[in-house]
Amino acid sequence: NKQVLLKDYVTGFPKESDMIISTENTISLKVPENSNGVLVKNLYLSCDPFLRSLMQKPKPNSKSVFPGFKPGSPIHGYGVAKVVDSGHPKFKKGDLVWGMTGWEEYSLIQQADSLFKIEHTDVPLSYYTGILGMPGITAYGGFYEVCHPKKGEKVYVSAASGAVGQLVGQFAKLMGCYVVGSAGSKEKVDLLKNKFGFDDAFNYKEEHDLDAALKRHFPEGIDIYFENVGGKMLDAVLLNMNMFGRIAACGMISQYNLDEPEGVKNLIVVIPKKLNIRGFTASDYFSLYPKFLDLVLPHIREKKITYVEDIAEGIESVPAALIGLFSGRNVGKQIVVVARE
Ligand code: NDP
Repeated sequence: NKQVLLKDYVTGFPKESDMIISTENTISLKVPENSNGVLVKNLYLSCDPFLRSLMQKPKPNSKSVFPGFKPGSPIHGYGVAKVVDSGHPKFKKGDLVWGMTGWEEYSLIQQADSLFKIEHTDVPLSYYTGILGMPGITAYGGFYEVCHPKKGEKVYVSAASGAVGQLVGQFAKLMGCYVVGSAGSKEKVDLLKNKFGFDDAFNYKEEHDLDAALKRHFPEGIDIYFENVGGKMLDAVLLNMNMFGRIAACGMISQYNLDEPEGVKNLIVVIPKKLNIRGFTASDYFSLYPKFLDLVLPHIREKKITYVEDIAEGIESVPAALIGLFSGRNVGKQIVVVARE
């Protein structure tokens, strides 16, 4: 049973050598007697930025939803898998599921209650790592439930071409908003404008003055900011927010590899502008999953929503694919295929 193990706790920017591909493990393909777990064959693994926080030595006040990884043990993350054996009444052999799994070829999942059964297979199965999985619910909950968007509002999305951002932009267009995204390369900016239908987009790496770039794109100010990046970007956005603006604090990837997070200099504007900044996690909205599917599946089928994936082949490609998120190597949702069926 090939596995991806954490070699040692990570500090700073993660490296491929922080992970090891091990072939030492053997696993029985039967669920132990009296267990209500499920034994799955992992098909697609979802590379997500939050995994970085689980690779470091746990910090005393971290309020992580998941326990951190232990050196020498397999990494866990979201994935799509096929049930091989089940001791759980909700699942049977052959079912397709998505949820937290081990990053290995086969996993025994004890908390099977947390798995989602995949009912719709007329769309690509890999979508359940992205648009129809955790990042999709993040975009949905963060945009609709946190930001309460209204037609005509001005929306800004950072890390806009990624797993979450590309969907937020498309939701904003469906809502009749004006939406601008930023990303880190020309290829990504072209995708935002020509594939995802953003009204405009810019390469933040080419802007020396982010405040000026935002003023250029939002002469009337920003009503909604979908925050994926943090740091200097958040500082510049705060200066450009309109009165009663909403900021969905989804992620702050620019901070994840820093020993000390950067300060936010302009935070004081939240008072006179009466801004609402709200953090949230995908799991806050898991209960809305059926409602979310009802909205998104028809749009996918009618090609009103599109989704770009960056697919790496084989479990050996996990280390490079995962660390690529932090240099922006991925174009769209980063996935690793372990097996196709
Ligand atoms: P992406 O698919 O967008 O991949 C990460 C992207 O972040 C990279 O491609 C890169 O794009 C950008 N990036 C990396 N480092 C930096 C940096 N220093 N400054 C600016 N941009 C950077 O990832 P996701 O869509 O999966 O995640 C986006 C954000 O949402 C992350 O912050 C993540 O932690 C958060 N998130 C939060 C969840 C929640 O439950 N709250 C759930 C899922 C995601 P580029 O080339 O444009 O720089």
